[in-house]
Amino acid sequence: MTTGFALAIHGGAGVVPRAHMTAERESACRAALSRALRAGENVLVAGGAALDSVTAAVSALEDEPLFNAGRGAVFTRNATHEMDAAIMDGQSRRAGAVAGIAGLRSPVRLARVVMEQTDHVMMIGEGALALARDAGLAFEEDAYFFTQERWDSLQETLRMQADGTLDNDPSRRHGTVGAVARDRAGNLAAATSTGGMTAKRAGRVGDSPIIGAGTFADNATCAISATGDGEAFIRRVVAHEIHARIRHAGQSLADAAEHVVQVDLAAHDGSGGLIAIDCDGNMVMPFNCDGMYRGSVREGGAMQTAVYD
Ligand code: ASP
Repeated sequence: MTTGFALAIHGGAGVVPRAHMTAERESACRAALSRALRAGENVLVAGGAALDSVTAAVSALEDEPLFNAGRGAVFTRNATHEMDAAIMDGQSRRAGAVAGIAGLRSPVRLARVVMEQTDHVMMIGEGALALARDAGLAFEEDAYFFTQERWDSLQETLRMQADGTLDNDPSRRHGTVGAVARDRAGNLAAATSTGGMTAKRAGRVGDSPIIGAGTFADNATCAISATGDGEAFIRRVVAHEIHARIRHAGQSLADAAEHVVQVDLAAHDGSGGLIAIDCDGNMVMPFNCDGMYRGSVREGGAMQTAVYD
């Protein structure tokens, strides 16, 4: 238990399998995580709000080409980008989300605009993009979102689908970024942003922007950002299930999160993980796959980043 701030982030459960990971790549991923942690920590050090901290951290992760969100978003089967994002304020339970968005540099910032400048929770399509333009958010050309690695993953995935040899390699299939924070005032917030699954159908929406599935925050219990097979996370209503276990069954954050990730999800083809923080500042980051890009920092403590166990 702590009265100081705490912040956890993830760069997705779509990690490069350990056997294929190089020292250079792992250190590049950890450096990118550190930059995002620093962006979120700076807000909290200055006495800022958890909501601003998760916005800053996720926005920084969206600028990193190594993770599947914003600049590094994966391609749909039509070779386009469709990004989903959500943010939630644990103090008020206000929430904002966007789905199927293209061209926007930071989808999480648009989710926040939806939360703060409209009466709505989730927006899609032209209306969402018009809101982004009205809010003065940054747009980028297609070239900004092109990474050779994502392109190669799409080609490989399409070829394997055609051959009937598609496997479960998470590094080719998915990834996401997210952050959860508790500020000095005890307020919690969560944010998540993703390009979704490689070669997804146009129009497919995953768990990340679904409040209660991939993103959730309530000061009374916890804040959560998830990553993994989105359909399974939606079916298990993962983030809200953890909240409900704490609220109604009196479970600890660690017990609730562990059960949902290692039992509920694992039993239903739900490969992935999540980061979670509770109102006492306890943080957990369970995953049931090879690894999850992740990092955390507490007031007065050193930053930590990790990829595998
Ligand atoms: N959960 C994301 C989605 O289904 C992908 C991921 O986190 O790997 O869109």
